[in-house]
Amino acid sequence: MNDWSWIFLSTGEINQYNPDIHEGTQPIRVLNHMNMFMFQNTHPNFAKELNIAFEEFGFAKTVNIVYGETRIENTPYIRNDNKTIYLDETFLSYLWCICHSIYTLYIQKIDYPRCNKINGNEAYEINPEIIESAEDLFGYAKSLIAAYSKWDVDSMPNPEKYLAERRDFIEQPNGFYTEAIKFILCHEYIHAIRHIDEINAGDDECSHYKEFEREADNNAIELLKKGIFPNKINELAVHIGVTLGILSMFYFRPNTDAPRHPNTEDRLVDALVQMELTDESPCWGIALIGLDLWAKQFDLGLEWKTELREKEAFDDFISQIKAL
Ligand SMILES: [Zn+2]
Repeated sequence: MNDWSWIFLSTGEINQYNPDIHEGTQPIRVLNHMNMFMFQNTHPNFAKELNIAFEEFGFAKTVNIVYGETRIENTPYIRNDNKTIYLDETFLSYLWCICHSIYTLYIQKIDYPRCNKINGNEAYEINPEIIESAEDLFGYAKSLIAAYSKWDVDSMPNPEKYLAERRDFIEQPNGFYTEAIKFILCHEYIHAIRHIDEINAGDDECSHYKEFEREADNNAIELLKKGIFPNKINELAVHIGVTLGILSMFYFRPNTDAPRHPNTEDRLVDALVQMELTDESPCWGIALIGLDLWAKQFDLGLEWKTELREKEAFDDFISQIKAL
């Protein structure tokens, strides 16, 4: 498509792929430029900050996407020697799939039913087919951890080729995905300007790693918060993007502890607290959907107490994780 008419389509196929500008073979390629644009514009003065990072800290001017039809070989990281961030193309696909499935399941299983109950009608259609394809896509995301297989744009939800009728379940997740990537890139950026020189000086033996990780999460979220517009129009996307970005770290393992990182559930709780969510924020329900998928993936036997409000049910779920 070479014009902007797709923006107004309400029926029919939308195809975002343009071979002249989109590199890579996986459908996530159509969002790679958007990721960089969003990162560079994390907040109004971030471009200036980045220039200082390039010049004074040797932070690399490009993010290296590692293209290839392979399983997820690495989650995002920054190299200590050249201060370059590396992102596996397959990881990017994985992250979009996680964003789509969790958001879609939240809308279909929590949000729409609640709206319908309040309004006393079925204005928001609960669609078993959309639920099933979101669950299938979650299965596909997990499968990329073990082995690569093709993301079929004709049968699975994806950002490249989709029906205008279903665009909300593609374009909303696109927004959360680019915020999640922004959070990940900001986290690595903080490592570049705050920690790598210390690590390279080699005067400690891992003892500070957990502290560095906490600081990277915390400072990254502060950068994103600075980018919330005064009218708060992008606040929800930032909140949901950070929530999904951290949830995406769960599905690799049944445990949440790691030698160099704080426990994943602590990272999630700290982030949600730092974002000062209201009790009514959708992030609690989104986090519950994500944690419930993880608990079921590894048969952890955790129970989502659906009789509780989402914020309370989330706190309860976290205490069950702590008791594992
Ligand atoms: Zn880190």
